[in-house]
Amino acid sequence: MARYTGPVCRLCRREGQKLFLKGQRCYTPKCPIEKKAVPPGQHGLVRRKLSDYGLHLREKQKARRFYGVLERQFRNYVERAERARGVTGERLLQILESRLDNVVYRLGFALSRRHARQLVLHGHFNVNGRKVNIPSYLVRPGDVIEVRERSRSMPFFKDVMQGAVDATVPEWLSANREQLRGEVLRLPLREEIDAPVQESLIVEHYSR
Ligand code: SF4
Repeated sequence: MARYTGPVCRLCRREGQKLFLKGQRCYTPKCPIEKKAVPPGQHGLVRRKLSDYGLHLREKQKARRFYGVLERQFRNYVERAERARGVTGERLLQILESRLDNVVYRLGFALSRRHARQLVLHGHFNVNGRKVNIPSYLVRPGDVIEVRERSRSMPFFKDVMQGAVDATVPEWLSANREQLRGEVLRLPLREEIDAPVQESLIVEHYSR
């Protein structure tokens, strides 16, 4: 399963804003964006005016990086969103939010989406009582996500149970920390999705 393995702070510096890819470190003064948001590379300080294409491209890259999705899969999501009813951009964000790794993070069972991806890959979660170790698995309203019995003794999950891991659970999900269990109540509305992207620019990028 392909994934980005390079330095992640570089991705935030490229986009010029925090994408919260590293968990707790992102909320400390150690975050490079807090110090100075210089784009990576030898010519990082050179100011360039972005073309329309550049603007659309940056928005798409930002969304991909925020959710940790590679290009081919992202394109598949866009095609899926275009086939679905409703506003394509909003539907795209709903699909991205429905990924199991994102839902695990939003429920507060992981420190970041990358961390959630790793926990899912290592088989620590059940969906509707069955083990699912595919981070891109798309959950649906009514699905129940819980930490598997054998994983509950892990120090990290003990911390979650004791409330040591901060998380604000959005209204479209419900979480029971003590039982390490969560449920998808419905699909998220646009205003409940905190992705710092303009989805219409992403749709325009792919409709060229
Ligand atoms: Fe690194 Fe997190 Fe800051 Fe991004 S937000 S630059 S991932 S510490």
